[in-house]
Amino acid sequence: MNRSPEVYSAADLADGGELFRKLTPPARLAIFGDPVAHSASPPMQNAALNACVKHLQYVRIRVTAAELPGALRNLSSSGFLGTNLTIPHKQAALPLMDELSAEARLMGAINTVAIREGKLHGFNTDGPGFSAAIHEQFGTPLKELRVLILGGAGGAGRAVTAQCALERCPSVAIANRNPDKGNALAREIESATGAKVSSLSLSCPELRDTVTAADLIVNATPLGMKEGDPSPLPDGLLESRHLVFDSVYSGGTTALLSQASLAGARAAGGLSMLLHQGALAFGIWFGEPAPLEAMRSVLEQARR
Ligand code: NAP
Repeated sequence: MNRSPEVYSAADLADGGELFRKLTPPARLAIFGDPVAHSASPPMQNAALNACVKHLQYVRIRVTAAELPGALRNLSSSGFLGTNLTIPHKQAALPLMDELSAEARLMGAINTVAIREGKLHGFNTDGPGFSAAIHEQFGTPLKELRVLILGGAGGAGRAVTAQCALERCPSVAIANRNPDKGNALAREIESATGAKVSSLSLSCPELRDTVTAADLIVNATPLGMKEGDPSPLPDGLLESRHLVFDSVYSGGTTALLSQASLAGARAAGGLSMLLHQGALAFGIWFGEPAPLEAMRSVLEQARR
């Protein structure tokens, strides 16, 4: 099949999606973002579509913040089943949905939209994808772990924190650079879920005790995305019994992963979270399990 590699524009959705219907196979799924050219979702989702012999393809559409409401409205008339959302749309799309899943509401963001009877249904698969990744990588269910989330008040951090609260992890702590943002999020998630969520500043001396009290340390800051980025955690805090998950999915070694390796701790990068959030989105669109191994193999090849 001829899967298109290019980046389309929101204007291409404006005329009933003629251009997308004429592709071979027709495009009926997409990712909206700005920028979007870097996204790993198209090769991963197209591998899943190929493996399940679906006669449709998944394309990149560059949609600016101003274009988002119109692009979402045009999805249905263009014959699309749904879309994924990435920067800068995950939060902005919330009020544009006709229906929201409970997770999306709590996580304050949407990464997956499904069109059902012409209506926009918003979901968040980042939190459940994180949970699946932890179980797969470390062989322990998330709900059994005491978790510390570095950068817990960001987009991915909020999804991870909410997921931990929903699963009633034995303890959930956020360490955020701006402690006011961390405190506000902790109170909001506590009042929505009834779970206890503690919060502290990433730079306060109590961070050492909070690391000691945790089983799983998660990096949800962007530190590690660029070569030479420092770790969000000071040196010397990790122990060999810690599990360390860096949500950065470059496939390379980050400063946090190096600290984990030095401490003899088990560690994983964010590729498996990317895989599982995508697999859960596929399940939402098609109501059937995604072909995980076909998706994983494409992701791993792309990151080599
Ligand atoms: P975001 O919303 O911009 O996250 C910002 C968070 O990081 C905030 O808590 C912010 O703290 C903190 N932060 C930013 N720069 C920092 C610094 N220099 N030092 C300490 N803290 C800093 O970003 P995002 O979209 O959530 O992405 C965060 C990470 O998650 C990225 O690495 C991204 O690749 C990853 N991610 C992975 C997946 C996956 O599937 N694996 C999915 C989504 C995202 P303040 O509140 O103090 O500003």
